[in-house]
Amino acid sequence: SRPAPLTLVGLGPMGRAMGQVLLDRGHPLTVWNRTASRADDLVAQGAVRAPDVAAALAANELVVLSLTDYDAMYALLEPAAGALAGRVVVNLSSDTPEKTRAGARWIAERGGTLIAGGVTVPPSGIGEPGSSTFYSGPREEFERHRATLEALTRTDYRGEDPGLAALMYQIGMVMFWTSMLSYWQAVALADANGLTASDILPHAAGTMTAMPGFLSFYAPRVDAGNHEGDVDRLAMGAASVEHVRHTMADAGVDTALPDAVVALFERGMAAGHGADSFSSVVELLKRPAG
Ligand code: NDP
Repeated sequence: SRPAPLTLVGLGPMGRAMGQVLLDRGHPLTVWNRTASRADDLVAQGAVRAPDVAAALAANELVVLSLTDYDAMYALLEPAAGALAGRVVVNLSSDTPEKTRAGARWIAERGGTLIAGGVTVPPSGIGEPGSSTFYSGPREEFERHRATLEALTRTDYRGEDPGLAALMYQIGMVMFWTSMLSYWQAVALADANGLTASDILPHAAGTMTAMPGFLSFYAPRVDAGNHEGDVDRLAMGAASVEHVRHTMADAGVDTALPDAVVALFERGMAAGHGADSFSSVVELLKRPAG
């Protein structure tokens, strides 16, 4: 079947990568961006520049948004809301699950349908095999446009609740930001000791590469409520992270990150989990610190 036509609004780094892949695959493409010049390259390759947002919406049933967040969506669509009826808006801008659900209601009140997406790769991953995007929202509209969305990345449909794609995205991001901070902490410690990021790269990458094994080991135990201290004990972890904190302090680098881990482990010890696995801290993390 012929590549389906669609509209793409928002041409930041992500939107421009998407536009390029869609044109490469032969999709008739209508584009609009607040800063018009960001569309020039795509227009030179055959994309149609819509004169305004309402015209961009009117051009196609399928409208993909790639904006900073949901506030940008309201800023853009509010003045053109009359053109939303009958549109399927696929919003690939990241935000919270609650903001996404509110956005879905806002679009529905204006006669359109919101499909929410969470892209899990950087712009360079668009159009690459192995790249994937979470989607959620009304199944029928999603399935109708799935083949077109597959031009961007593989699609991972999570269900009808529009917040689900954002939830999966944020589950990935809380791990990404905190894991990357652990890496910057290691780089700071290395630097204080005359080692560069490149010097420690094999060791740092090896440490990260070992993580999936730990996840696979602990996931079924945690799901079963099993925090048995048979392979590790929180008391051991608390002593270990104290060594980490002192190593940072001795090197004269920031200790905010190990301080936070020490504080969490101390709460676990105070709650009587010293002889349990350090996985028991997940029970503390299930509620606010208070
Ligand atoms: P940007 O923040 O660079 O996207 C900016 C786009 O949003 C531009 O088109 C910009 O217009 C538009 N925009 C922002 N605010 C407004 C507004 N008030 N009114 C009109 N237009 C507005 O993000 P990216 O392109 O990098 O990413 C897009 C989305 O994809 C984000 O939600 C991001 O979290 C997500 N994402 C990004 C990844 C990445 O590596 N870049 C990876 C995974 C997800 P203008 O050009 O005029 O400024």
